[in-house]
Amino acid sequence: LPLDQLIASLTVDVPDHPEPGIVFRDLTPVFADGDAFRRMVDGLATPGASDPRTAALATRHPGGRPFDVVAGVEARGFLLAAAVALDAGVGVVPVRKAGKLPRERVSAEYTLEYGTATLELHADSVRPGQRVLLVDDVLATGGTLGAAIALVEQLGGVVAGISVVVELAALGGRQLLAPHTVHALWAT
Ligand code: IMP
Repeated sequence: LPLDQLIASLTVDVPDHPEPGIVFRDLTPVFADGDAFRRMVDGLATPGASDPRTAALATRHPGGRPFDVVAGVEARGFLLAAAVALDAGVGVVPVRKAGKLPRERVSAEYTLEYGTATLELHADSVRPGQRVLLVDDVLATGGTLGAAIALVEQLGGVVAGISVVVELAALGGRQLLAPHTVHALWAT
């Protein structure tokens, strides 16, 4: 099966979660499948496949990797980011929900359907000029990844790519994140 079809076939739609009217895409069975996990991690590591800006960054570092560190968004992004980073031979840093990181940090607030939420990154997680690959499981409205981009850029980092397993295209996240481009393994 092509990877997008494999992901689609293993994803479980959960109606009315976490609220009535919302169909939650549960990816845990995709993560639990060894073949799917392997191929998903390979796919997430190559954001340049759909991102001319990342391809340009890679070209400026001939023979090198197109990113220096992988940032995963709490919590399912952690599972993916760690695997991608280990494979690529780079480190991994956590983008966390407010109040979890113990040391000096930067914060970015974003809008939810009702109210706001805050994401944080340790101030020494990204150095100026460092190329960061952002990874999460699902792109919905784009608020979460938008905040993650803001954190990286507050620290002077360069977003070298944004990779997600699933893009819920009707919610417009891709448009919100422009001019950054998103590499999605399955768009639905
Ligand atoms: P956004 O900020 O609206 O783009 O929502 C993306 C964030 O919410 C990601 O961190 C996802 O893990 C989570 N999320 C939103 N919708 C779903 C879903 O249907 N399944 C799994 N996670 C979701």
